[in-house]
Amino acid sequence: MKIHEFQARELLDKAGIPVPKSTMVQSVDAAEAAARTLFAGGSKMVVVKAQVHAGGRGKAGFVRVVTSAQEALTAAEFMLGNRMISAQTPPEGLEVQRLLVADAVDIAHEFYAAVLVDRARRTNTLIASAEGGVDIEKVAAERPDALIKLALDPIIGLQPFQARSVALALGFKGKAIAQAGRVFASLCALQRSTDATLVEVNPLVLTPASAAHPDGQVMAIDAKFEFDDSALFRHADISAMKDPSEENPAEIRAESFGLSYVALDGNIGCLVNGAGLAMSTMDIIKLHGGEPANFLDVGGSATEEAVTEAFRIILSDNRVQGVLVNIFGGIMQCDRIARAIVGAAKTIGFRVPLVVRLEGTNVVQARAILEAARAEIPTMQTASDLSDAAAKIVSAVTVAA
Ligand code: GDP
Ligand code: MG
Repeated sequence: MKIHEFQARELLDKAGIPVPKSTMVQSVDAAEAAARTLFAGGSKMVVVKAQVHAGGRGKAGFVRVVTSAQEALTAAEFMLGNRMISAQTPPEGLEVQRLLVADAVDIAHEFYAAVLVDRARRTNTLIASAEGGVDIEKVAAERPDALIKLALDPIIGLQPFQARSVALALGFKGKAIAQAGRVFASLCALQRSTDATLVEVNPLVLTPASAAHPDGQVMAIDAKFEFDDSALFRHADISAMKDPSEENPAEIRAESFGLSYVALDGNIGCLVNGAGLAMSTMDIIKLHGGEPANFLDVGGSATEEAVTEAFRIILSDNRVQGVLVNIFGGIMQCDRIARAIVGAAKTIGFRVPLVVRLEGTNVVQARAILEAARAEIPTMQTASDLSDAAAKIVSAVTVAA
């Protein structure tokens, strides 16, 4: 699960990481008013930022530093009136419904800091760079040496000497060394306590020297979190931050029926029961030269209505050119799936090829139900095993394409 920057800033603020003052707004008028309040409170510059679950906003023109409330209004009008298209959005872009209006800071230098679950190293890892900002992806790709990667001890986490040595390696000086070290320590603690798979601050900035901060002040002016969905049950406060308008609508619909749906890039829809079977189904489709469009796991106890809904979700995706049903009935009874297939054929209709492989509990009854309804499901083929099923659906989709 992802959250918006304005929510991420609240988490950083609570963890003691310095973040500039800001307000989240949902209209042009509210953006202008928020900017007016900041200017009245002494801000010299204000930044207006689109709140969407994608980065690359700066380059897309959806982060604007302004010096008057009138300019804030113009920026807000643009952002709320246009879809944001960046390297991280789908080609059609994202609708912007929320803006952050924040006190803008002077920047002496932009750094990058993140804590993530590094699957390759099998550790939580702190990543930091003195070359933060909007080109960090390019830096990471072209000059990986510009990134410091530090594996975190699973029990102790980041130790104070490590935090300081990272700050020194990035070039922080004087009092800013301890400030940056505290930020790294807080980020590591926050990643762990919130079960985040990613906490990213880009840029982490150093402000120019001032009377109050002779070595500059270290502040987070952008923040991104991704949480482990499987751990959300123990974080009611974080779950409450979910913004359904930013999620894949099919995934939301599936969730409300107790189904788990994952959208992928191919053209074969997969209805399976169990995550392990989902993985092997996708593997075998690929082995036969096909590409899965999604997998929809109906689990063990889904009702006939939920399974019918599962077909509705798969068939509503117009990239789906064929559907593979692969069920190993243990707790799930095959006849329930068969009745749902017949129900879906009647209420939605399978215009694309359908291949069904059923095994396990009540399979005899299930086969009889499908046989009896064959005339109503003309695009259906049955398969004897997993490999046969994959071969049939891949060839049916190839022929259709
Ligand atoms: P992103 O492009 O979606 O990652 O959005 P960011 O919040 O990181 O903003 C992009 C860039 O805008 C930053 O790297 C900064 O260069 C600039 N920027 C953002 N906020 C401020 C600010 O408060 N002051 C100044 N001077 N620049 C800012
Ligand atoms: Mg950023």
